[in-house]
Amino acid sequence: MKCYNHHDRDAFGVCKICGKGLCLECMDKEDDMVICANEHGRRLLSDKILNILFILVGLVCFVTAFAHDFDLFKILLGVISVSIGVGGFKKQKK
Ligand SMILES: [Zn+2]
Ligand SMILES: [Zn+2]
Repeated sequence: MKCYNHHDRDAFGVCKICGKGLCLECMDKEDDMVICANEHGRRLLSDKILNILFILVGLVCFVTAFAHDFDLFKILLGVISVSIGVGGFKKQKK
């Protein structure tokens, strides 16, 4: 099998996401998975940042709600944000 991007090079691995053959220059590793460099790496990273942001926003909602006004809307928003963030992390591990 040849690299998807360099037809003159042998592939050293196959992308777990799209199944393309990749040479050493084109492959990247994400949690021990071989993936296309640049193409999926950035997407996985931005997903992680997004999940962390959701959890942070949720925690801020909790803290401000409990520290100040016990606003039920903020508590609800916190629960939803944290569950979206944690759910996103669980989805990625599968
Ligand atoms: Zn790929
Ligand atoms: Zn290549």
